Amino acid sequence: MSGGFQLTGGWMEVIAGVMFSGKSEELIRRVRRAMIAKKRVQVFKSHLDDRYAGGVYAVGSHDGRTIEAIPVDSSRQIALRLDPLAQVIAIDEVQFLDAGIVAVASDLALRGRRVILAGTDTDFRGEPFGPMPQLMCVAEVVDKLHAICVLCGAPASRNQRLIDGKPAAYDSPTVMVGGAEAYEARCRACHSVAPAGDTGQLRLDASG
Ligand code: ADP
Ligand code: ZN
Repeated sequence: MSGGFQLTGGWMEVIAGVMFSGKSEELIRRVRRAMIAKKRVQVFKSHLDDRYAGGVYAVGSHDGRTIEAIPVDSSRQIALRLDPLAQVIAIDEVQFLDAGIVAVASDLALRGRRVILAGTDTDFRGEPFGPMPQLMCVAEVVDKLHAICVLCGAPASRNQRLIDGKPAAYDSPTVMVGGAEAYEARCRACHSVAPAGDTGQLRLDASG
């Protein structure tokens, strides 16, 4: 855990940031350290994301490191599949989960567990993503990581969604799972969203 202080009892820690900012790397690092400390650890990962080498049963970082994870697509599944003896519970891609995750994580912390939550805090529009705002507010510790803007090299805080190389329109769906072919890390100045209804690509499709 970052910071020069020690938390006791249960708590929540959030690893937030843009895609490619190293959230999964950081979650894997914290989980490995907990295991070295002989803690009982359980790792969950939201189901929507199966881009990486280990498929849905692994948390993978963009640099290819993995740890095993239980795939879930709701906060209820986490509650149901919880190992009652787990001391550390880590959840990756938490932005895709429903609002119930706030109560599930808070309850675990209240019952003495360390809860590590990693997720993208903003969607492709640059707006808060799913339960991330609530989780970041109630957590004891929040780390916001940055990637490198692929256009200018500044710290990147935005997910740039690209459809055939062009910025996606504001009203395109919030969830569209993809990797480097569909998303770029960009800074605020280089990030762009096309106006709602900008269906340049759809028009081409319709006429073609
Ligand atoms: P996240 O979970 O936040 O998406 P990962 O932990 O999966 O991030 O991957 C982080 C790794 O992605 C970095 O260590 C680096 O190797 C790679 N990477 C690819 N593109 C970028 C970028 N634009 N800025 C920083 N790292 C990048
Ligand atoms: Zn930039």
